Amino acid sequence: MGFDFHQPDSVAGAIALAQRYGEAARFIAGGTDLIIQINRKRLAPQHLVSLSGLGLDGIRETPHEITIGAMTTHNEVVFHPGFRKQLVALAEASAVVGGRQIRHVATVGGNIVNASPAADVVPALLVLDAIVDLQGSEQARSLPLDRFLLDRGRTERQHDEILTAVRFARPPAASATAFLKAGRRKAMEISVVCVAAHLGGREDGEGFSKVRIAVGAAAPRTFRASAAEALIAERGDDGASFAEAGRLAAEAALPIGDVRASARYRRLLVAALVERALATCRDRMRGAAV
Ligand SMILES: Cc1cc2nc3c(=O)[nH]c(=O)nc-3n(C[C@H](O)[C@H](O)[C@H](O)COP(=O)(O)OP(=O)(O)OC[C@H]3O[C@@H](n4cnc5c(N)ncnc54)[C@H](O)[C@@H]3O)c2cc1C
Repeated sequence: MGFDFHQPDSVAGAIALAQRYGEAARFIAGGTDLIIQINRKRLAPQHLVSLSGLGLDGIRETPHEITIGAMTTHNEVVFHPGFRKQLVALAEASAVVGGRQIRHVATVGGNIVNASPAADVVPALLVLDAIVDLQGSEQARSLPLDRFLLDRGRTERQHDEILTAVRFARPPAASATAFLKAGRRKAMEISVVCVAAHLGGREDGEGFSKVRIAVGAAAPRTFRASAAEALIAERGDDGASFAEAGRLAAEAALPIGDVRASARYRRLLVAALVERALATCRDRMRGAAV
């Protein structure tokens, strides 16, 4: 096994290399997914095109929108002061990716493009209705993250397109997010199931104006639990609705059974984590209001 390592000095240069070498080339960010796949002989690229030093890192905030550069590391997300309060689910998700060393080099862009159903940051981004920005040789384009993800390991990205950033609207003050992960241990553990939720409050204080629920590691791709969302949008928190939403999300799941957990256990986890994530959002909204 061997490959040439390319360090272009611009995004255009990186795209040109991907075009020149075609399927023999791969972009590399932190390398924490890619190098493992190469070591396991699932991939054998002859050219690795580095995305470091191309200005794709950093978190930018405006009053209305937040943009996370693709090369932003999980550690940067964890320690970003803007990812508290309404956006804490992002920090909660990045905080449980691998261990400290992994989080120091692994990137948000790599987590998205790798398209693992167990990618922890993806559900937290899905509940924020995140948009991904892509740069190709011909054009730049943007599309909802929910449309970008196709299947396990498959996305809408063309071979020579770079995911440059992911962005989302700043949620209003009267809203809350939560991310919960179940694994067999607390660190260095791929999710057995992970769930993110986002609730937005109504101005009159009754019910929720926004309900988003996303589930990871329980289907071939991370998915929005839309029936569960619709139920909460209609009934709000009536004492039984969060548990009912959990059951609906579990019904929508298509989990596998593997060495980490049986399919049945994963479904039970989806139900429990969705109920708990919704309750956490509700409690956080109440806490912010007092
Ligand atoms: C020990 C260990 C533990 C882990 N634990 C977790 C965990 O708990 N949770 C979790 O979600 N993940 C985990 N991972 C997986 C991995 O760390 C994350 O998915 C990470 O975010 C991947 O980012 P990266 O920068 O390393 O991607 P890379 O490995 O560099 O790239 C991944 C894929 O995306 C492509 N790519 C990367 N960036 C771009 C871009 N900007 N544009 C176009 N293509 C791009 C690459 O070509 C490659 O195909 C773990 C990995 C290891 C080794």
